[in-house]
Amino acid sequence: MRVLIFEEGKIREAEAPDPVPGEGAALVRVRMVGVCNTDLELLSGYYGFSGIAGHEVVGEVIRCDARPDLLGKRAVVAINQGCGAGDCPFCASGVPGHCPDRQVLGIVDWSGAFAEYLVAPVDNLHWVPDGLGDLAAVFAEPLAAVLHITEQAPLGPGTSVAVLGDGKLGMLAAWALSRFAPDLTLLGKHEERIALAASLGLSAMASSECLSAAGRGGRKFDVVVEATGSPLGLAQALEIVRPLGIIVMKTTTRHPVSTDLARLVVNEVRLVGSRCGDMGRALGFLAETGMDTRPFIEAVTPFSCHAAAFERAVRPGAGKVILEFP
Ligand SMILES: [Zn+2]
Ligand SMILES: [Zn+2]
Repeated sequence: MRVLIFEEGKIREAEAPDPVPGEGAALVRVRMVGVCNTDLELLSGYYGFSGIAGHEVVGEVIRCDARPDLLGKRAVVAINQGCGAGDCPFCASGVPGHCPDRQVLGIVDWSGAFAEYLVAPVDNLHWVPDGLGDLAAVFAEPLAAVLHITEQAPLGPGTSVAVLGDGKLGMLAAWALSRFAPDLTLLGKHEERIALAASLGLSAMASSECLSAAGRGGRKFDVVVEATGSPLGLAQALEIVRPLGIIVMKTTTRHPVSTDLARLVVNEVRLVGSRCGDMGRALGFLAETGMDTRPFIEAVTPFSCHAAAFERAVRPGAGKVILEFP
């Protein structure tokens, strides 16, 4: 099969043997795979990664010896695979994402989706409803991560929310979370992204404007979702969160964050880290809202044009770049 290998900051296309599914696993043919900021971080050395990345995938089961009934079914993949041991406190309580021995698709010890095929445990597959197209389903993973925020911070009609960052995740978060908390503002730094948010019916403004207003005693928010992708994001979030408010932090960066945390202490702000969410819930959300994912897409590119695709994905303010196997 054709694969993309990340190695020392470069991407190399290669031929690799087709993977063979073990017991309880399926062979999935990749239909589409999204490029995520985590992939770009992996490419530049986060986790000391080398190998096949890619975790935002929609595919189709082409082999599953124990479950031939699954052949041809479209699926997205829950990216965390725990050890499954009965005495593992995380696996036993249904949070394999925090199992110390976990494998994470395209990130930790599990060959990812920048490849023609991948192997996944059947338990990690979530079936895509018939009415939902690949271009929507390929957003299930990042959308699950966004919807997870609603389990970590109380979001409702009475909550004021700022989403800080107008990148791929920030834009998705603003759209999805505004369904829960209509008083939501996207704070961006790219004019065209702020305009895009406004065209989606979201309230949006330049983060610099909001930050300087907050510094002069202006508006602060109950909940700030930090999705800047920058080591400076936390300091900005601390500027605009109200006392006793919540910062939900999405950014992972290989650069250490250096911030004066006195404001966190004095204002008794709650800082919550936030990673993955429930893929089944994300598929349900996509189906129920009929969410049009096209505005969030920068480009859909054939796998063979991966070099151009990644060039586009690293541009500041780029939307979601998707590779497809026609
Ligand atoms: Zn991702
Ligand atoms: Zn475990």
